Amino acid sequence: MKKNNLLLIGTHNEGKFREISKLISKDIKKISPKTLKIKAPKETGKTFRSNSELKANFFYKKSNIISLSDDSGLEVSALNKKPGIHSARWAKKSGSFKKAMLKILKKVKANRKARFICSLSIKINKKKIITSIGIINGKISKKITGTNGFGYDPIFIPNRYKLTFGQMQIGKKMKIDHRSIAFKKLKKKLKSHKFFI
Ligand code: IMP
Repeated sequence: MKKNNLLLIGTHNEGKFREISKLISKDIKKISPKTLKIKAPKETGKTFRSNSELKANFFYKKSNIISLSDDSGLEVSALNKKPGIHSARWAKKSGSFKKAMLKILKKVKANRKARFICSLSIKINKKKIITSIGIINGKISKKITGTNGFGYDPIFIPNRYKLTFGQMQIGKKMKIDHRSIAFKKLKKKLKSHKFFI
């Protein structure tokens, strides 16, 4: 069995760093690129998968530490899957997440279907990178509700639930969200490589 005591979680987003860290075994020391003074690469990929792989490859190359990265975002059906891979940039361009969420609420009327997607990639050595995708389907709420979580959490209601991610306890959201779905799949894939996180 291979033991991995150090893992770089390749994100500068503190919300994501917290959530991903909680999914990983307590025995593994987690380190952020910020601590190592490594800047984020440009996300030039056209898909969630290509962006998460690009980031894991980049952080591994810079740090020589096993690196886990995600790329995630919100796809809104009525907006032709926007903001999608541009979810973070959309909020920046809008001025804030609140403004970006208000923009979405204004545009979404009859069809409120939406989903969160997460692609998780782990670069385990020079040659090997493993990726898995998690999706959670849901709808856009009528208004911004809840203060938990981060990003677009206050306007997303997952199917079979009445609360937005922003209203849910962090622990609850983390058990069901796109990141944890991708993480469970990734763990399974890693097991077949005798690799445990
Ligand atoms: P990136 O993966 O760093 O490019 O950023 C993804 C962006 O998607 C985040 O900054 C958020 O805006 C949004 N996002 C991804 N996952 C979540 C989530 O679980 N809750 C709320 N917003 C999210």
